Amino acid sequence: MIPSQSEPAFAADPTLLSDTNFSLLVDSVRDYGIFMLSPVGVVLSWNKGAENILGYRPEEIVGHNFRCFYPAEDAAAGRPDNELSTAASTGRYEEEGWRLRKDGSRFRAHVVVTALRDPDGKLRGFAKVTQDVTERYRAEQALRESEERFRVLVEQITDYAIFMLDAQGRVSTWNRGAERIKGYRAEEVLGKPLALFYTPEDRAVDRTGTLIEHARTAGVAHTTGWRVRKDGSRFWADVTLTALHDKSGRLYGYAKVVRDLTDRVEAEEQAKAYAAAKEAIEARDEFLSIASHELRTPLAAALLHLQGLNRQVARPLETWNAQRLALGVKLALDSGRHLSALVERLLDVSRIATGRIQLELSEFDLAAVTAEVVDHLRPFGEQFGCRLVMQPSAAVVGQWDRLRIEQALTNLITNACKYAPGTDVEIVLAQEGERVRLSVRDQGPGIEPEHAERIFERFERAVSSSNYGGLGLGLYVTRQIAEVHGGSIRVESEKGQGSLFIIELPRHAAV
Ligand code: ADP
Repeated sequence: MIPSQSEPAFAADPTLLSDTNFSLLVDSVRDYGIFMLSPVGVVLSWNKGAENILGYRPEEIVGHNFRCFYPAEDAAAGRPDNELSTAASTGRYEEEGWRLRKDGSRFRAHVVVTALRDPDGKLRGFAKVTQDVTERYRAEQALRESEERFRVLVEQITDYAIFMLDAQGRVSTWNRGAERIKGYRAEEVLGKPLALFYTPEDRAVDRTGTLIEHARTAGVAHTTGWRVRKDGSRFWADVTLTALHDKSGRLYGYAKVVRDLTDRVEAEEQAKAYAAAKEAIEARDEFLSIASHELRTPLAAALLHLQGLNRQVARPLETWNAQRLALGVKLALDSGRHLSALVERLLDVSRIATGRIQLELSEFDLAAVTAEVVDHLRPFGEQFGCRLVMQPSAAVVGQWDRLRIEQALTNLITNACKYAPGTDVEIVLAQEGERVRLSVRDQGPGIEPEHAERIFERFERAVSSSNYGGLGLGLYVTRQIAEVHGGSIRVESEKGQGSLFIIELPRHAAV
């Protein structure tokens, strides 16, 4: 604030500003060298600060030319004279440069030279204020060097694209990694917007704008996605964008680090494809060994019965035992039927693999058909100690492929008997509007959640083949049957809590 009135003490005592007081004041200043020079640069006065900084005592320097403060090369280049002539012509000269102390050591000086003229304009000399700024200069220099080293380091990195964007999102620096990964040279991208590296799809939805906005508000944005090289090829990029603020908190740009993960992604995909192929081959091999084993059992039985029959018929006709022959034929036929059912199932799988199962739709009462299947399987259940219980159901008339529905239901009920022996197996049919629900519940070991999806896949089993025979195809085929009818199948189960298999079908399957 400018005082409206002069302070009384100051006004009352103009002698305070006397030359003596002034030189006392100047002399007491220790951090600034303050001294007078004649028009040609001869030192006329010397304060404590000058003595501290330059190391000369007044009697050693007063009367000598100030040129001795300059390093030899600067003195030879005429810099002291330039300094004075500039001050003389413009009134003032200011610079920062190297000066010499009395002991010959250098220091960084900030100097201000002011020309002193008498009232009629004649140059009387110069006032010179010198400050030792070596420490500050060295600190700044160290910072500059470290920044430069860091810049060179970043510049040389080739594995990462590291560059800066200005506050508007335009490229402002470019390193070797950026050149290598993106294929542009610095001069081709400096000043260009970030969108240059984005795919047309991403540009259409202003992906760069969203990313920059995220970095601006959250401080950092991290993302992965396809980016485009100069030659138009794409690479899978891992991107980190960090907002940069100056000391006052003002946003001045963004640092962007990009890694090209294309090789890694490709390698991972290859590894995944390889693992899947390996798994498929292993599953197929296991299936072939299970299938041959499964086929061999009824085949061996059929052969055994046929050999028995063969032995009998080789004997004289009178010795033939009609009953034994009939039993042998029946057992051989049973094995043959079993064999044929297995082959049929394998054929189903190849039918599914080569195209869709052909449905032969007809209208019938699903409740009646379910009851028939259950009745037919009752003796089978008894072999496993299972009681098949069908909840009474009203007629549910619709359009399905009868044989396929019987097959699906048979698969679920025989599985229940196989995996939950000695328990009740409950079969429920319910109609819900245009959909029907057919469910088979058992009290067996149940299925762990991680297997709940897998068991519907081809050759997949959740039990070891040594404990339970089976091809691992029943549920696969059952699911296909449900799906070609426009329906679905799922299992609800917890380990140890039994399983509930549910088939849902539309009442009228469309082909
Ligand atoms: P398979 O019975 O020939 O192995 P499936 O496709 O019919 O083939 O069944 C696949 C697997 O699902 C079986 O190996 C078994 O682990 C499991 N599974 C099927 N039904 C049941 C059930 N009711 N209880 C427990 N596990 C079952």
